[in-house]
This record gives sequence, structure tokens and C-alpha cells, in this order.
Amino acid sequence: MEHEKLFERAQRVIPGGVNSPVRAFNSVGGTPIYVTGGKGSRIFLADGRELIDCCCSWGAMILGHGDEEVAEAVARAARAGTTFGINTPQEIELAEWLVAHIPFIDKVRLVNSGTEAVMSAIRLARGVTGRELIIKCEGCYHGHSDGLLVSAGSGVLTAGDGAEVASAGIPAALARDTLVIPYNDPEAAERAFAAHPGRVAALIVEPVAGNMGCVPPKPGSLKALAEAAHRAGALLICDEVINAFRFRLGLWSEAEGIEPDIVTMGKVIGGGFPLAALGAKAEVMDALAPEGRVYQAGTLSGNPVAVAAALTVLRRLERENPYPRLAAMAKRVAEGIDAAAEKAGVALRVRRHETLFTPFASAELPWNLAEAKRCDSRLYAAFFHGMLARGVYLEPSQFEVNFLSAAHTEADCAQIISAAAETLAALNG
Ligand SMILES: *Cc1c(COP(=O)(O)O)cnc(C)c1O
Repeated sequence: MEHEKLFERAQRVIPGGVNSPVRAFNSVGGTPIYVTGGKGSRIFLADGRELIDCCCSWGAMILGHGDEEVAEAVARAARAGTTFGINTPQEIELAEWLVAHIPFIDKVRLVNSGTEAVMSAIRLARGVTGRELIIKCEGCYHGHSDGLLVSAGSGVLTAGDGAEVASAGIPAALARDTLVIPYNDPEAAERAFAAHPGRVAALIVEPVAGNMGCVPPKPGSLKALAEAAHRAGALLICDEVINAFRFRLGLWSEAEGIEPDIVTMGKVIGGGFPLAALGAKAEVMDALAPEGRVYQAGTLSGNPVAVAAALTVLRRLERENPYPRLAAMAKRVAEGIDAAAEKAGVALRVRRHETLFTPFASAELPWNLAEAKRCDSRLYAAFFHGMLARGVYLEPSQFEVNFLSAAHTEADCAQIISAAAETLAALNG
């Protein structure tokens, strides 16, 4: 009742009642929820309920909610002034930390969102190469800037629009500059490069796709993409807005043995604040203004409060190395849900990659968007609501990944698995 009332109020003053589409629950149905707070692995709802959170603000909250050390750093930074529009020493510290932990970048530029990071990376690639076309993979989401909302995943899929251009208001001319290939298909990349010799500025890819559900790269496929891009004289942009510092203390590109020319990061590195970054070698980054001719700017870029949160979170990740435990918990949850689905005879399988997982309502695990779309969205919706009723908040769409935080415990995992077992048994019943 509480959530219905809030949603009604919201709809009067906010389009669709939400500030980001997937929060409207359009793909799973039902009333969107409202959160009043969180602590560790838990979120507290406006109706007084408490849930185990597997969204973690789409991966941004890798230490969990309401972390004391982060809150302290944020309060200290806020008391010292929340924004100046002038350089601060702390932003250098964050840039130094990132550069020190990512072998193939020399410089970073801080921005306010993943969308901005990718938008700037694309402009930079075009500015550096003097070329205009971009190749992206179907189902990868790179934020909501015009040229990238073409066959994008995530909330765009959830909105149920099957059209190639995933939003109204995008000029056809802009969309035409984005070529789309299937994910996990380096031969399609070769063909696209061959069809437009000397015209492609960059190929952009999420190394581990997280916006059509969790879809990892097939062995060797990223290397082949990188080689195809470089043979064609194009740049490789790895969009690690989800991936960076989610699987390991660094990029997933490095784990795959590829060297992107430009990398974008967000979510984890923002420490729960609107902070993201793009990075590259000096010769590429120096093409950005004021050094170079590619314009990029931001009133709040390098915001001191966001930087304080980011530095606190990243240093904690370095100190505590939560990654093996995060992966072990994700493995336990994935195997637990799989076993429960099998026992209940429900066609649902969990795809896990390291610390991420997606329960796919399908007997087969997908390797690209076309396969992901074969999932039974109604079954996923029923599973989502069954879990919600039993105290577990999964992503409100089939085409997203679930996240655990360092604050999640073995007891949380056990509770997620038993909620899944009850839900799946009821679904079959
Ligand atoms: C979330 C995401 C973005 C967009 O980031 P915002 O901060 O939401 O603008 C871009 N790329 C990928 C891979 C993402 O997951």
C-alpha cells in the first residue's frame, strides 16, 4: 500500500514515476519499490520490510550500504566544501591511484557518469583517428547518448522496443554511424571493418557483457576483436563501467590479455557517487581539451565528495581483497539456485562469471543478445516476484546482472538459496 501511494505521487511529477526506466518494474510488472535506507547487504523499504539486496545500486556499492569508513570520509569532505569548480589535490590522488592500478593507461579524465565517460571516449576516438564510424556489439549498453542507443541492452531491452534504434529522438544520420555486430562474433567484426575500409574510428565492447544478463566472452573472442580493430587502424574501447574493479583490483581487459586503447570505468570506482572516468595512453588522452582539440568538460567533474568516497572504497578493495570471497559467494548462490531449479523441474539456469550472476529463464545459457532474448521473460518475472516476496531483491529485469557486496555473508547466501528453492517449488506447483 505504501509503495502504491508513493508511486502514484511520483507519477504526477516524475515521468513514469521514475528517474531511470528500469526502476518502473515494466518488465517484471507490479508496483515499484521505494527504499528509505540500507545497511550492509540489506535495504529497508518504505513499507517497513527489509530485503537482501542483489542490485547494490547496479554494482556501485561493492562494500555494501552505509559503510562507516566511507560515510566518515564523505562527511569530512562535505564539511570542507562540496564543490569549487577549481582543481583539488585529491583528484590528482585518485587519478594517480587509477593509473597505478591499470598498466596500459597513463592518464584519466574524471566525469560524472558512465554515459559521459563513454560519450567522451567515442568523441576522443573520432578526434584521434579522424574517422566517424563506430562498431558496437548488440546487447551491450554504453549509456544513453544518441549514437550508442542502437541495439543497446539493459533498460532499453526492458522497455520492450524491438527496433534497431532504441529510442525516439535520435537522428537517423547519427544512428547510421553506429554499426552493430553480435557479441562474441569476431568474424562479424572483420566483415564490418572490411565493408567500411578506413572509416571506423573505434570498436566498443563490454569485455564481460552485463547488460543482456551476464554473458561472458568466449575464449579468444576479445583478442580476435582487438586484433581486427587494430588491423583496421581503429581504436579498441573497452567499456568497463561494470567490469572495472568488480572482478579483480583492475580491469577485466587485463585478465583477458587485451590492451584497450581507451577504457571507461564507472559504478565501482565512484564509491556510490556520480563519478566515472575514461583513461588511455598519454598520446590519446592529450587529444582532450585543453591540451588537444577534442572538447570535454564538466562543472562538477572531479567533485571532492565523490573523489573522497572513491578513494576510500578503492583503498579498501586494495587492503581487503574481497574478490575471492565475492566470487565464492556468487558461485555458491549460482549453484544453489541451479540445483533448486533442477529439483523443481523449472527451466531456469544461472550464468555466473566470477562475482556476477544472472538467473536466465531458459534451459540454455546465452552467448549473445539473440540467444538472451529467447528467455522466458514471464517466468523470470514470476521468479523475481517470488524472491521479492521471500525477502530477496534481484534485478527487476531478465537482462541485467546481480551483484553481491563485501558486506554480504554466508548466511545471506543461504537465505537467497532457500528463497529460490521455495520460489521454484511454488512455480512448478
Ligand atoms: C551503467 C553502464 C553505463 C552507463 O553508466 P551511467 O553511470 O548509468 O551513465 C555505461 N556502460 C556500461 C557497460 C554500463 O553498465
